[in-house]
Amino acid sequence: MTRPARTAFKTALALTAAFALPLAACAAPRPAPRSTPAALQPRPDAPPLVVAVSIDQLSADLFAEYRENYTGGFARLLDGVVFPSGYQGHAASETCPGHSTLLTGVHPARNGIIANGWMAKTPEGKLVNVYCAEDTARKQASGKGYTASAVHLLVPTLGERLKAIWPSSRNVAVSGKDRGALMMAGQNADAVYWRDGNGFATLAGRTMESTAQAASDAAAALVAKGADAYAAPAWCASRDRAITAGSLTVGTNRFAMAPGDGNGFVRSPRVDEATVALAQALVESHKLGADKVPDVLSVSLSGADYVGHTFGTNGVETCITMAALDRMLGDFFAFLDARGTDYLVVLSADHGGLDLPERAVQQGQPGAHRVSEEWVPAKLGATLASELGIAGPVFAEGSASGDVWFASTLSADDRTRVLAALRSRAGDKGDLAAVFSAEELAAAPIPSGDPRAWSVIERVRASYMAGRSGDLIVVLHPQVTPIPRPGPGYVATHGSPWDYDRRVPIAFWRKGMTPYEQVQPVGTVDIAPTLAAAIGLPLKPGEMDGRCLDLDGGEANTCTR
Ligand code: ZN
Repeated sequence: MTRPARTAFKTALALTAAFALPLAACAAPRPAPRSTPAALQPRPDAPPLVVAVSIDQLSADLFAEYRENYTGGFARLLDGVVFPSGYQGHAASETCPGHSTLLTGVHPARNGIIANGWMAKTPEGKLVNVYCAEDTARKQASGKGYTASAVHLLVPTLGERLKAIWPSSRNVAVSGKDRGALMMAGQNADAVYWRDGNGFATLAGRTMESTAQAASDAAAALVAKGADAYAAPAWCASRDRAITAGSLTVGTNRFAMAPGDGNGFVRSPRVDEATVALAQALVESHKLGADKVPDVLSVSLSGADYVGHTFGTNGVETCITMAALDRMLGDFFAFLDARGTDYLVVLSADHGGLDLPERAVQQGQPGAHRVSEEWVPAKLGATLASELGIAGPVFAEGSASGDVWFASTLSADDRTRVLAALRSRAGDKGDLAAVFSAEELAAAPIPSGDPRAWSVIERVRASYMAGRSGDLIVVLHPQVTPIPRPGPGYVATHGSPWDYDRRVPIAFWRKGMTPYEQVQPVGTVDIAPTLAAAIGLPLKPGEMDGRCLDLDGGEANTCTR
């Protein structure tokens, strides 16, 4: 594993002092040796339940756009401790890396989840595709072609850390995507469920518990029956306008679902309604928050991401989705209130997103456009082979933006020539902003400090790991959508090192807290150390890349008390 940069150790050393106090406060008159962590108790004021909500593709921009309209769960969070500029600092602003930072406190460069997928070398030297949430050793075990697992996540999640010290702590996760649930739960979960088809699934070898099976059956029954359109709130009216993208029209959809239309389930807020219903059932069946030992419930809501990819982020579809999320989270918090549960909730996102260029050009961004076909690696490889006189393939795998792997037959000399030829194409003209080689990334330190000030190579470095990342990492200019041609379900995307994809909201709420809003930037890697301190979970220096955020706007300090 890559060694953390010197700067990361410095941050960690500063944190040591923060954690010394809770430890001292809990120590017996004759202190127990550090090797017996079982003697540790949670802080007396630790929340019995941590609810970590991730809204897939919820950019800070999108959260802010509709702020004055929230009356439900979002409004509750805005009455808490709010960091409107949270950063998924790394360049690989995708679902798997984003979810991997939320409850580990560690950048993808050290937690191993450097992208949604990568190439691995077999013992025979062949390059094979690896999905971030698959157990590569059990490839054939499921009909899907992979067995879902968090085996590639190299560091523990908050829930796993709690279970290691207090075995009765519950670690439960649900999501509309397997990677969403698994990257927040880690490898040691009491229950982990994700949407699979029109229902929910769990880990191979585990039986669906009855509550989960009931939620899964209810979702499948809804899809079979179909459902009416959602009503658009009045505040969505100005977004309700048709936009043409290739042969598709977006901007005016209200999610009517024909009987049997699985896309109408997933590409709408319905998938989130089903996920929240399952989360609610699991609170009861696992008695979450019922005793002093803190539990973690992770709820990753995927609907906004599917809606964003299918319809873009600035039409009536995303507006309706935001209203639905606000309502369903409000109902969920009201359910927890009614149970009398004392919970600490944190809301954030795995990454942001960019609207489709066809709408952006009508809205004051004439430079927004789709990447030229010439940057798709298959086409680019052929062009470079012809230009440089290379026989055989240049690239093995990759996309127009992000990791690209050389063909294993390409000589070291030719690799150097290809890199130079690409570099000559980067700059102000054209779509290509920069190209970095694995070697130069490996030599760069993992960044820390203000994520706004990170250079492009530092952003890329934060999600680079030798042995997993590509031979090259390609960065396109801002507002170049890396989808050459729009298609059904895929007109807009995310994944760049630019702030529309990196900047996400972070908000905490707990009954009785002294609220505040801090506009200065913080990181999603700060969430886990913040929650750990609130619980009284000790951390060793350097274990996490983030720092504790004080969750009390008054005299009290949840990091140092
Ligand atoms: Zn995502």
